[in-house]
Amino acid sequence: MKVLVFGSLNIDHVYQVPHFLRPGETLPSAAYSRNAGGKGLNQAIALAKAGMDTAFAGAIGQDGLFLRQLLADSGVDTTRLQVLDKPTGHAIIQVEEAGGGNAILLYGGANRCIDREMAAASLAGLCPGDWVLLQNEISCGREILLLAKEQGLRVALNPSPASPELAAWPLEAVDLLLLNEVEGCDLTGSTQPRAILEGLRKRCPHTAVVLTLGAEGAYWQAAHGTCHHQPAIPVTAVDTTAAGDTFTGYFLTAWLRSGDAAHALRAAAHAAALAVTRPGAGASIPKAEEVAAFMQQHSEGCTAADQ
Ligand code: ADP
Repeated sequence: MKVLVFGSLNIDHVYQVPHFLRPGETLPSAAYSRNAGGKGLNQAIALAKAGMDTAFAGAIGQDGLFLRQLLADSGVDTTRLQVLDKPTGHAIIQVEEAGGGNAILLYGGANRCIDREMAAASLAGLCPGDWVLLQNEISCGREILLLAKEQGLRVALNPSPASPELAAWPLEAVDLLLLNEVEGCDLTGSTQPRAILEGLRKRCPHTAVVLTLGAEGAYWQAAHGTCHHQPAIPVTAVDTTAAGDTFTGYFLTAWLRSGDAAHALRAAAHAAALAVTRPGAGASIPKAEEVAAFMQQHSEGCTAADQ
């Protein structure tokens, strides 16, 4: 079994500024960095680091070849990644020197050039029982979901970022939905975790759900079944970027391998906790050995505390 991530790749250009640009203003920036981003890329790296057989489908331009290399170096099969005559998706991110707040200008670029033909070609060669993992940062997402289901594939969806178009997606066809509170609220109109889960159970009763709640942990709701809460692992967070992406990659890997949602939630919570103790996105995603060692260390700590 393999997981195909059909998603976005971005170049994040990060500028440090004394204040956000005002209309008509030219502002020097004291520091600049170029980082790899995109939910598709982060989730593919998380899956591969967790040990899953992972492939990637999506699109970049010539300026994004280093993103393909990054995926390949992480063990992801990039043969379905297309290089188009378009700019790679990118973000211009201003970070305020005092306070660290940010303002982001996003250009979808090649991520928004995916069409039905490319989607069908990228799904070719997958077998029933393989999984497709989707987010909401590329064009044609709804069509990819439908094509994948027609082909007998299983679909996991992270409906992020929340957008009005998601209302038209056939959520009832999704096998596993992984979302945070904001996205849950957007899909159900409810703000409380239990009410979000209940709303999703009504809307898509055959879909298993993972609802993440930041430092409040995460809920699992089986299709037609039981609910289970996993507390977050207490750590000192320095940067929560990619917490959800790390959680997604580790949950999916452990759940597909073991079929045990409680175990998969535990592994994902430990992986995401490690990720929030480190700066950055892809670079903050831990390796499977680090997660295993952290779980061991934490369970020994809990056992000692229980005695
Ligand atoms: P997203 O990044 O998609 O918004 P969340 O913020 O809900 O996702 O975080 C996903 C998971 O990451 C949480 O369920 C939790 O396990 C872990 N996590 C997030 N923030 C923290 C934190 N401050 N401390 C420990 N774990 C965290």
